[in-house]
Parts: sequence; C-alpha cells; structure tokens
Amino acid sequence: MILVGRHPVLMGDAKSPLCIFCEIIARRSPAHIVYEDEACVAFLDLFPFTRGHLLLVPRHHIDRLTDLPESEYPGFLRALSHICQRVERLSRHYNVSANQGELAGQIVFHLHFHLIPRYGEANPFRTHPRERLDEVDAQEVVRILAAP
Ligand code: AMP
Ligand code: ZN
Repeated sequence: MILVGRHPVLMGDAKSPLCIFCEIIARRSPAHIVYEDEACVAFLDLFPFTRGHLLLVPRHHIDRLTDLPESEYPGFLRALSHICQRVERLSRHYNVSANQGELAGQIVFHLHFHLIPRYGEANPFRTHPRERLDEVDAQEVVRILAAP
C-alpha cells in the first residue's frame, strides 16, 4: 500500500498551517541543530536512517527546490557543501537527497536535503523501519558536527 497525503501536523495544510520545520527554525520545537547561517539551518533527523542523518532546510518556507529563488542558489549550495564537509567527519560515504512530492516520499513540505552518512549498510536504498533518534548519542553527534 502506498500512503500519500499530507500529515496535518508535520506538513501543514489549509486546515493546519503549522510546519514542523518552520517551528524548529523559530525555536518553538526542539531539534538538535548543528549548523545555521542567514539562509539555512541543519539539524538531526528525528528518525535517522543512520547515525548523523541530517536535514538542511532554508529558513523561509518553500515546498520544494523549484520554489527556491535563483538568487538563493549560491547561499544554499555553499551551505550544502559546508555541511557535507562536516558529515565527512563521520563518514566519507553519504547520500545527499531531496524527496520532491508525495509520490517521491516527501512527507514534510518544507524543502529539505537529507544528508545520510553511510557505514557499509548492505543496501543503502532499501528502506527499513527507523528508530527514533537516541537522545544520548545525539549529544555526541552534535558535538562532532556542530564544531565550526
Ligand atoms: P521527507 O520524507 O523527505 O519529507 O523527510 C522528512 C524527514 O523529516 C523524515 O526523515 C523525518 O524523520 C524527519 N522529521 C519529521 N519531523 C521531524 C522533527 N520534528 N525533527 C527532525 N526531523 C523530523
Ligand atoms: Zn516550513
């Protein structure tokens, strides 16, 4: 069964305009933030595929990459590359991906890039149930990734 449709709390919709990533950016919801600049924020995914799974989001709310104004390309790409360098503290092998649209697996409709460190999983593209972020280990991961 393919589940599609926006989750009313996570993604916001006409009835519930709340966006969880906007809430995190505004510091109204907790998150393990490892990087921020004037354009972007990066924080640990709450249900990581692997240790150090990060999300990089623009500060202002847009659904998807094609909504990003061209003037913001350089700042966003600079931040993405910078975050990649930090991810390499954990592993030189990682995925950078962005799900665009419900049928592509997007469940939070605030543009985000996943950065997923890889440590030798047999099949990185096979999805599997994910555990919630381990809060104790998250402190250590933040210590590694948040250092400038
Ligand atoms: P996507 O399927 O590309 O829309 O991915 C959305 C990601 O956001 C998923 O990997 C979720 O685990 C993650 N996520 C949802 N809510 C939170 C949250 N409050 N803090 C951190 N990550 C979250
Ligand atoms: Zn948002």
